[in-house]
Amino acid sequence: MLKKIPQRMCIACKTHKDKKDLIRVVKAQDGSISLDFTGKKSGRGAYICNDIECINKMVKNKLLSKAFETPIDDSVYQDLQNEFKSKV
Ligand SMILES: [Zn+2]
Repeated sequence: MLKKIPQRMCIACKTHKDKKDLIRVVKAQDGSISLDFTGKKSGRGAYICNDIECINKMVKNKLLSKAFETPIDDSVYQDLQNEFKSKV
């Protein structure tokens, strides 16, 4: 029997991928948003490809605001973009 690999959809390119190929973006209870490279942070999550093009698209189109249904400041997007660049 084939093992079912959990799949999630990238919020930028809408492609379904294995969870391990995506980065989780987490909105914590206090409203702060961060990248979750471990998949262990608690909070509401959205998924995005481990790919700068999808990250850039997320920033440009403010896709997290839609995913989390809340307005998100430009500076938060910049921080996430910088965090991604520094870790990948
Ligand atoms: Zn993507």
